Amino acid sequence: MRIVVLAGGIGGARFLQGVREWAGRRPDHPEITAIVNTSDDVTLHGLRICTDLDSVMYTLGGGHDEERGWGRVGETWAVKDELAEYGAEPTWFGLGDRDIATHLVRTRMLDAGYPLSAVTEALCARWKPGVRLLPMTDDRVETHVVLAEELEGAGVQRRAVHFQEWWVRYRAGLSVDRFVQVGIEDAKPAPGVVEAIAAADLILFAPSNPVVSIDTILAVPGIRAALLAAPAKIVGVSPIIGGAPVRGMAEKCLPVVGVEISAAGVGAHYGARAYGGLLDGWLVDTTDAGTVLFGADVRAVPLWMTDPETTATTMVTEAAAIAGLPR
Ligand code: GDP
Ligand code: CA
Repeated sequence: MRIVVLAGGIGGARFLQGVREWAGRRPDHPEITAIVNTSDDVTLHGLRICTDLDSVMYTLGGGHDEERGWGRVGETWAVKDELAEYGAEPTWFGLGDRDIATHLVRTRMLDAGYPLSAVTEALCARWKPGVRLLPMTDDRVETHVVLAEELEGAGVQRRAVHFQEWWVRYRAGLSVDRFVQVGIEDAKPAPGVVEAIAAADLILFAPSNPVVSIDTILAVPGIRAALLAAPAKIVGVSPIIGGAPVRGMAEKCLPVVGVEISAAGVGAHYGARAYGGLLDGWLVDTTDAGTVLFGADVRAVPLWMTDPETTATTMVTEAAAIAGLPR
């Protein structure tokens, strides 16, 4: 049995822990492939940083900081402090010493000509995540945020910042005109992505940020078409519970693309496959029971990912039932 999961960073990582737990309970040991968003990637201090891939890799590899919610456990910050002493910008991004080692290895391999997918595989040889991690693309795609503020000048001008600057430096506090995925038109799915989708027995959308994690994966030319053509059922999990994101700031992104901050809003945004959208099934939290997505099988289960066992027992089991997979 083969399972494919579309995932962003922290929501994706936690969900994948549950999928891995669920797979580990089965005698047929399903293979799991995660297709991970790379549009948050950024180059800082000459280092290529892949925040979502690293969140997933560290979490599944047991090297993440559970309390902080991101980055490495046992992290120290000597390099960041030294950079600040030099006044070397940007100082707003938390680059830990342990984390930097990952970025050094990655940047060196990318500079030597290896594609990101090969680099990710090499990094995973250390972390053994138990899941095949594929970047959505080997090509460079970056979400930039066009700010709503208008600069007086030669006519009215708009300013754009990298997604990480908007998210981390400004805590998503500057109002947004639109998101732009720079490079997306020319991006190709990474090797194995389309093949994994076509060969899957179940496809899951993690409860990741719909706008800057899942939508960007779907926007890589070829991926949406592969999903629409996939024989497997597609089941999504809502990142919104009772009108608010569970962790993080997804509520800052949804209004920008005109989507209501609710399980129903996000479900309608992905759309039911029966009506040209993507979802055969949609999992919402029990507090959102009664949510309707015409053409899709909507089921309410507890969606708080407190631990992998619970995620496996509630969410993944229900998704597998929607897909009619053998128990
Ligand atoms: P990021 O890339 O690190 O921002 O992480 P993702 O895009 O993968 O996921 C962020 C989303 O995960 C947030 O919008 C949250 O709403 C969602 N999320 C986090 N924890 C939970 C949880 O326990 N349950 C559910 N349903 N969603 C969660
Ligand atoms: Ca992210």
